[in-house]
Amino acid sequence: MKNTNPNSASPPRLTTVLWRGLRSKCPRCGGASQYRKWFTLHKHCPQCELVLEPASGDTWGFWIVGDRVFVAALLVLLYLGVLPRSWPGRLFVLGIWIAAIVITMPLRQGVCTALDYFLRVKQGQET
Ligand SMILES: [Zn+2]
Repeated sequence: MKNTNPNSASPPRLTTVLWRGLRSKCPRCGGASQYRKWFTLHKHCPQCELVLEPASGDTWGFWIVGDRVFVAALLVLLYLGVLPRSWPGRLFVLGIWIAAIVITMPLRQGVCTALDYFLRVKQGQET
């Protein structure tokens, strides 16, 4: 059963919070989108009034780790030698790689916001 009550005494489970973040939903209530535009966060959740990023830069640590996943994937492809040898082929792969980084930005921001919320709950700063 979905915990949508922000005043509930039970803390949210990490998997629940991450799932909500992956869908760009509020990590606390799961009912509203985190964004008012493609990549512009609401200051507050429109449904439960959760402040999504209380201090600017709180999610940077998660961002840095999340971005490294793409770098690591490219390095693994380079190491395995599965990238094309021709320059046009390499440029094509680079274009796909950059597109993947840009397209997944809202998803990654959603996860970063969710993880930040989860840490705040665990530290007793949030309900
Ligand atoms: Zn909410």
